[in-house]
Amino acid sequence: MTEHSDYQRLRAHLAFLRMAAAAEALPGLLDEAAKTKLSNQAFLERLLAVEVDAVDERRRVSLARFASLPSPFTLADFDYSAQPSVDPKLIGELATLRFVEDATNVLLIGPPGVGKTMLAVGLGHAAVAAGMRVYYTTAAELAAKCHRAALEGRWATTMRFYAGPRLLIVDEVGYLPLPAEAAAALFQVVSQRYLKGSIALTTNLGIASWGKVFNDDPMIAGAMLDRLLHRSVVINIDGDSYRMRSHRARAEATRNAVKNS
Ligand code: ADP
Ligand code: MG
Repeated sequence: MTEHSDYQRLRAHLAFLRMAAAAEALPGLLDEAAKTKLSNQAFLERLLAVEVDAVDERRRVSLARFASLPSPFTLADFDYSAQPSVDPKLIGELATLRFVEDATNVLLIGPPGVGKTMLAVGLGHAAVAAGMRVYYTTAAELAAKCHRAALEGRWATTMRFYAGPRLLIVDEVGYLPLPAEAAAALFQVVSQRYLKGSIALTTNLGIASWGKVFNDDPMIAGAMLDRLLHRSVVINIDGDSYRMRSHRARAEATRNAVKNS
């Protein structure tokens, strides 16, 4: 009788604490504990471990959803032989995520198709897997969001939003020239994260041409670069486009097939 009411109270405690996974596992674990004469300590450890795993999994799923990473590719998927200008040791070092600990930025610079987004997103997945808050945006998306925020009186909230993640990925800076307002928004995002949170930024523009992104405003471009580069890892990728490469390989194979037929 008391055992029964103990059990009911235990269920009620777990429900009150919203430990649904532990509550669900409870009957099975109690049976097992009785059968294998588990110590109180071992039983409690197993029960809590079930809940810890469930909470951890939920957190990871929610972090992954929040991060909005545009592709599932991880750093392990990167083919270094196709891109000799990318040093696997450097990427390996970045994959330890120490750069996030000290708010170092990562700048990936190179022409289209060389894997800039893939590497930035791969770093994003690694950080999510380590339980860090990550957020991916393109520069154009950031500009549009900030524009809307300014119109709707949500500027401060939006700036706080971009300050929040441990790692902010800003993809495709320089593909489109940013209007003055957008350049100011990006500048403020970079400034408020300066020495506090990492940015992984991809761009097709060499650092010397950054004035172009910012409407030929060399002041804002210079001030932004100062902050971005002060503590940074710069990865210049100057190889061939990966897409074009497989394209060329296919074309080559087709040509050879025709030649040899
Ligand atoms: P970028 O951002 O530099 O324009 P992406 O990262 O979008 O280039 O890469 C273009 C496509 O080629 C993507 O599908 C990407 O996964 C693939 N890709 C690029 N470089 C590599 C690489 N070294 N190994 C494997 N896939 C690659
Ligand atoms: Mg890209």
